[in-house]
Amino acid sequence: MFNHPLQIDRRYTFTNFIEGESNKRAKRAAMQIASQSANFNLLYIWSSSGLGKTHLLHAIGNYVIDNRITSRVIYVPASEFMREFMMASKDNLLFEFRRKYREMCDVLLLDDLNLLEVPGRAATREELFETINYLLITKKIIVITADKPPVELKNFEQKLVTRLQWGPSVQILPPNFETRVAILKAKAAEREYLVPNEVIVYIAERITGNVRWLEGALETVIMYAEIEDKKPDIELAERALSQLSLPIKNISADKIIEQTAKFFNISPQDIKSPRRKKNISIARQIAMYLCREMLNLSTTQIGAIFGNRDHSTVIYAIEKVKSDKERDFSIQTTINTIREMIMGEREREYQSHSQQI
Ligand code: ADP
Ligand code: MG
Repeated sequence: MFNHPLQIDRRYTFTNFIEGESNKRAKRAAMQIASQSANFNLLYIWSSSGLGKTHLLHAIGNYVIDNRITSRVIYVPASEFMREFMMASKDNLLFEFRRKYREMCDVLLLDDLNLLEVPGRAATREELFETINYLLITKKIIVITADKPPVELKNFEQKLVTRLQWGPSVQILPPNFETRVAILKAKAAEREYLVPNEVIVYIAERITGNVRWLEGALETVIMYAEIEDKKPDIELAERALSQLSLPIKNISADKIIEQTAKFFNISPQDIKSPRRKKNISIARQIAMYLCREMLNLSTTQIGAIFGNRDHSTVIYAIEKVKSDKERDFSIQTTINTIREMIMGEREREYQSHSQQI
């Protein structure tokens, strides 16, 4: 019962963990602790689901094994730790249980700690407290994940919470648009599948908040393309995504116009008006560009929305934004910012609990 083979999943490494603003501190802390260059030997990572916690735990495991730091690595979901502990208690095998998790373990990777929040699990939490103490005293490595910071864990005894704060607690947030694009590109490349950039952008604009859903959406698009034996395009992606019961962001032309106006500090009416003042023209062109990119509207439809303009005017505006953003990095940044405002992703606070890294 205690002779599990290594349960490290070889697919998850630091190399294929795409770094972005939302996860870079967690990745850096994980790499530091894995390479023994950290000044802490307990790390706590928390986030909502699908943001890479389990991936990072396995990446740490793979790193220490591949670099021959140690092979005594245990990856265990908290639910499994609890199950083993209860069986061991019942069968009088606590001695073996403790041998496994204390003497025979150099790196303990404990996933989904919040599963121990149930009130009746005090004995398991006490055992975990003792295990952590033992490993800390013997200078071993412990990495723990959960869906909330230590202080918010329900029913956790104060001394255990304090132990969990022995090292840094790092939060992973949902990836921003650029990171989502990078993740989708990496996953497509990993699958050796050619997905056009506009399709990647289309998915990244609609699926936010969870990398697992992002992967699922890409898989579905690829599956559709394979069934229909054609290269994925926007039309196919639209159909594929509509089949998924995922929370897909609702974006409308009104929202695009509203947020673009807000960015330029003008009114939405200005954008639809015939006014030719420089900043109004630029705002209008960018809003038209985003309507094309985010909503895939036809140039005729866009013309109608923007004060009944001719579709050739719309084509000109979109082409101009495309070439301007290639030339001028600040335009690229402006567009990214507005896109995130449209998707309601700008107000997030990056937080960290206990010590900063
Ligand atoms: P969690 O444990 O936080 O629920 P997972 O680690 O299971 O999330 O991640 C869900 C999926 O998303 C996995 O397939 C994982 O490889 C992938 N993933 C998450 N974050 C990233 C990232 N930054 N780069 C590449 N893949 C990621
Ligand atoms: Mg997980």
